[in-house]
Amino acid sequence: MSLLVVGTVAFDTVRTPFGVAERILGGAGTYAALSASYFGAKSRIVSVVGGDFPQEHIDLLKSRDINLEGLEIIKGEKSFFWEGEYHNDMNTRTTLATEVNVFENFKASIPDSYKESEYLLLGNLHPSIQNSVLEQMNKRPKLVVMDTMNFWMDTAWDELLATIKNVDVLAINDEEARQLSGEYSLKKAAKSILTMGPKLLIIKKGEHGALLFSDDDIFFAPALPLEEVFDPTGAGDTFAGGFIGYISKTDDLSFENIKRAVIYGSAMASFTVEKFGTDRLIDLSDKEVSERLQEFLTLTKFDIQL
Ligand code: AMP
Repeated sequence: MSLLVVGTVAFDTVRTPFGVAERILGGAGTYAALSASYFGAKSRIVSVVGGDFPQEHIDLLKSRDINLEGLEIIKGEKSFFWEGEYHNDMNTRTTLATEVNVFENFKASIPDSYKESEYLLLGNLHPSIQNSVLEQMNKRPKLVVMDTMNFWMDTAWDELLATIKNVDVLAINDEEARQLSGEYSLKKAAKSILTMGPKLLIIKKGEHGALLFSDDDIFFAPALPLEEVFDPTGAGDTFAGGFIGYISKTDDLSFENIKRAVIYGSAMASFTVEKFGTDRLIDLSDKEVSERLQEFLTLTKFDIQL
């Protein structure tokens, strides 16, 4: 099945207690599309980079079979740049710089050949741009997943609510869920957010896993306890890409399958954090992915008879 990812393709400088990686390949769209590429989905990306974006990054995305017809390159302009620093616990980070550059005037024009994509992932961008993507589609995708961030809650509240209304799955972190709903309890937050439009809500809790809510059910996926956590950047986007990649591969929207997709997304995110940037997402083998899934099964399996 076809999958369209809209999101940033960028340069990141990442500072962690283990070292610094400067101007490496990053961006929410990059992580999501790379992650989805492991599920055989025909991923297409809509994004923009500047003339400074190296051919080797483009070749890397192509090598994962990601269709780049929707990647605009604006010569003479600079790519999106983000810099962040992780603190000692690796769970909290400070954003040191966000230079939107080519994204200043980004319109997200969807190529005609993408307009019938069956699955759509709206990465974290201005909510009006996310909504305009939906409006450009020739037909409603089977599933629309949206990410967002606190910044849009502070600066574009009305547009955000108008976009959330139109999506099927909202995937945000716990802090964002609390801000969006005004509720501290995540259960109450989910109840309130599910009245805003989405049928499903995913609350990502970093190293504490992810919660999936529908009106009637709750499912929890842990994060694997890992020996090496080098760089959590992009974990959320990798999760989202693996989640929708798995659903587009299986083409099954039942709650049981969506639970499996949460586990696949979590497994993909567990790889991303093990190395700097996208390094771990470049050449994973099927065996590595299935071993990781087995670890999830073993971690969560128990037997209680009531
Ligand atoms: P995450 O760690 O899941 O928050 O994703 C981090 C990735 O998102 C980095 O690769 C950044 O390039 C990208 N990013 C950071 N800030 C923004 C922003 N304001 N809008 C879109 N993408 C961003």
